[in-house]
Amino acid sequence: MSGVLIIGSGHAGCSTAINLRRSGYEDKITMFSIEDEYPYHRPPLSKKFFKGDSLKKDILIKGESFYSDNNIDLKTNTEITQVNIKEKYITTHAGDRYEFSCLVFATGSSSRVFPATTYPGVDIYYLRNIADVNCINNLLKNSKKPLLIGGGYIGLELAASMQEMGLSVSIIEQEDRLLKRVTAPVMSKFYKDLHESRGVKIFCDQSIETINKIDNNYEVLTNNGISISTDLIIAGIGAIPNNKLAQDSGIKCKNGIIVDQYCRTNVPYVFAAGDCANAFNDLYGYAMRVESVPSANAHAKVIASSIIGNEVTNRELPWFWSDQYEFKLQMAGLSDEYDEIYIHGKIEDNSFMACYGKEGSLIAVDSVNMPKIFNNYKKALANSMRLSMDLVKDPNFDPSSIFSASY
Ligand SMILES: Cc1cc2nc3c(=O)[nH]c(=O)nc-3n(C[C@H](O)[C@H](O)[C@H](O)COP(=O)(O)OP(=O)(O)OC[C@H]3O[C@@H](n4cnc5c(N)ncnc54)[C@H](O)[C@@H]3O)c2cc1C
Repeated sequence: MSGVLIIGSGHAGCSTAINLRRSGYEDKITMFSIEDEYPYHRPPLSKKFFKGDSLKKDILIKGESFYSDNNIDLKTNTEITQVNIKEKYITTHAGDRYEFSCLVFATGSSSRVFPATTYPGVDIYYLRNIADVNCINNLLKNSKKPLLIGGGYIGLELAASMQEMGLSVSIIEQEDRLLKRVTAPVMSKFYKDLHESRGVKIFCDQSIETINKIDNNYEVLTNNGISISTDLIIAGIGAIPNNKLAQDSGIKCKNGIIVDQYCRTNVPYVFAAGDCANAFNDLYGYAMRVESVPSANAHAKVIASSIIGNEVTNRELPWFWSDQYEFKLQMAGLSDEYDEIYIHGKIEDNSFMACYGKEGSLIAVDSVNMPKIFNNYKKALANSMRLSMDLVKDPNFDPSSIFSASY
């Protein structure tokens, strides 16, 4: 037996190794990472860690000794460049070969980047890992007015962090509102108002026409004739799954590595987890690619169970959080098909929840600073409880009673 090889040691890879050992798996586990770091939490990179409010040791998933203590062979600074599925071995960039009995792709995703020809001569930075944070923070020493391209989560979290660091931040968003892909207009407006109240300049419905370099500054011109002067450009324009290695080895891919409800690829002893996986979700009855820590951890549990022969299926409710200033946004469920929306609480109190309904039932919630109620709704959605919108809208309804009564 040559054990389990895990390519990638982010949340999905690391959690797979942890769950395997927890489940009593005794054979060899080897985990590879391109990065020269112990596995760490990625969300703080745009938040506390970016601002310098936490150190590298604070964001490690496990302490440094955990891996040797648990007989997990962690190989950092090691890129896997080739996978031979049929003969069951992988090859590193240095030409070393490792054999496996089971293989897990946990290769994550990469920042979507502009093609080099889009803005020739212009340096655009992206945020994905610790090295990126170090690079951007270094550049910020000589920056006063950074520009973010993209008003999604990463752009907004970075905007909040940089504004709190005393910088004068601008955001360009090509859609007509922030967070358009993931939330309703009411939430977009709340976040636009919030950022503007803290001094961030937001330009929606603008795409960049040209960027001119003038000394150490850039002049950014938009299609609607707006001119923005900046000294540092950072883009947060989405992520793409790292599935090329899998695809080249013959594993089926489409918008990520295709896996079934057991997180298994088209080859029975090969699995995929986390951002790189387009995974069948039993709760919804179809496959989806979710970029979130809870999803990566859920896949990891499913894979560990499959490997030890105790199969469970992936039925994780998609959920996510985003911290900006003192506001905690938490989202659960898939809201894209909603046909009605109800606001629980008052937006002006900075503590409220958007409840999304479809055909009379609750399908998703977005909560701002309402963690307790959020957790109740999240649990109800995760358990496929049918909560009617009439109930959700009833002013006498107490969501904390959901699990003490039957509806
Ligand atoms: C700035 C930022 C903020 C975020 N904030 C949140 C948040 O608030 N909440 C939330 O839920 N999610 C957040 N996310 C998303 C979350 O971090 C990801 O969904 C999660 O990290 C996915 O875990 P993963 O293990 O699939 O991938 P990753 O964490 O990306 O790890 C994959 C690892 O595999 C390595 N790798 C890839 N190819 C190879 C190879 N060939 N050989 C060896 N190693 C390889 C990569 O270098 C990387 O280290 C954030 C992401 C970013 C970038």
